[in-house]
Amino acid sequence: MSHSLFTQALEKGARCQRLTREEAFALADAITPDRLHQLGTAALANRRQRFGEQATYVFNIQINPTNICGSGCTFCNYAASKNAPHAYVLEEADILEKVARLGPTEAHIVGGLNQIWPYARNLELVRSLRQRFPGLHIKCYTAVEIEYFAKTGGLSDSDVLDQLKAAGMDAMPGGGAEIFSERLYRQHWKNKTSPKDWVRIHQMAHGKGIPTNATMLFGFGDTWVERIQHLLILREAQEQSRGFAYFIPLPFQPGAGNFIEKGPTPLETLAVLAISRLVLDNIPHLKSYWPMTGLATGAAGLSWGADDMDGTISEERIAHLAGAATPVGLAREKMEETIRTAGFTPMERDGAFSFQVGVA
Ligand code: SF4
Repeated sequence: MSHSLFTQALEKGARCQRLTREEAFALADAITPDRLHQLGTAALANRRQRFGEQATYVFNIQINPTNICGSGCTFCNYAASKNAPHAYVLEEADILEKVARLGPTEAHIVGGLNQIWPYARNLELVRSLRQRFPGLHIKCYTAVEIEYFAKTGGLSDSDVLDQLKAAGMDAMPGGGAEIFSERLYRQHWKNKTSPKDWVRIHQMAHGKGIPTNATMLFGFGDTWVERIQHLLILREAQEQSRGFAYFIPLPFQPGAGNFIEKGPTPLETLAVLAISRLVLDNIPHLKSYWPMTGLATGAAGLSWGADDMDGTISEERIAHLAGAATPVGLAREKMEETIRTAGFTPMERDGAFSFQVGVA
C-alpha cells in the first residue's frame, strides 16, 4: 500500500503534478538507498521540465549589521550578548563602502534583534542604499525582524512593511521560519515569531507586492512528518498569496557546544531537497544553499531538484559563526565551474524575483 503510494507520488511529482497529502507523506515513509535514488530521479525530471539544464546564481553580499541579540534561540551560534568576544557592530559607512567596492547585484540584509541597530537605523540604511545604488536589489529583514521592529517601534507589522518598501526594500528573505512545529517552537525559539505569525507576515508582504523566500531548518530533532507538514503549510499559503519565489532548506549547523553533535548527512539533505521539489509544485524555485550544505552537496543538489545555488555571498557570517566549513565567499568563476562540473549550465541571474508561479 505504502509502496504503491510512494511510486504514485514519484510519478506525479516527476511530471510536476500536485501530490495529495497522503502521497506527500509517503515520500518520506522510509529513506532507503533505493528510494533515495528514486527520489532524486523524480526530482531531477521535475526540475528539468521547469528549467532544463540551467542552474542560476546571483552575485550577492550579505549585510549582517550586528550579531547582538537576546532572543536566545537554542540553535543559534550567530547571536552574541553585548560584551561577548564575538559580538560585532558594523557602521553605515563601512556597509556603504563595501557595497561600493564590491558592486553586488543583490544585498541580503539580516541581523539580530537589538536596540543598537533599532528599526529607525535599519530603515535609514535601506534608504541610503537605495539612494546610492539605485540598481541594487535589496532583500531585507526576516519576518522575525519585521515583527520586532513593529513591537519596538510602536507600529504595526503592516506599517513597517510599507515604510521599508517605500525606503527601497525589494523583497524579503525567508529566514526565521525554522520548522513549522509547535513542539519545536516551544522548545527552541519561543521568544520570537511563531510559525503562524511567520506565515501571516509573509502573506501580508505578498499582499503589498513584496515577494519573499521561505526556508526550513532541519536536522535538529525534527521528524520527517514535521518536515512534510512544513512543506504542506507553505504550499497552502502559496495558494492563497502567491508571493513565495524560492524555497531554501537549511541543514542545521551544530557549531561549537550545541545540543546536537552532528547536523544532517549530505544524503539526508539531498532527500529533503528532492522531496521539497516534488511537494512544492507552486513555489517556482528551489535553492541549494551551499554555505550550509557544503559546496559538494550544494552542487549535487542540482541533480536532486534544485535550480539555484544562491550566490557568491561575500563575507557571509551567520552560517560561518555556526561552524560551516565552506569558503566565506565564492568567486563567480568558481561558482560557474562548480555548476558546470555538476553537469548544468550556469547562468548569473539578477536579484529581482521576477517569476511565474507554476511550472516554468
Ligand atoms: S536565530 Fe535570530 S533571533 Fe534567534 S538568537 Fe539567533 S539572531 Fe537572535
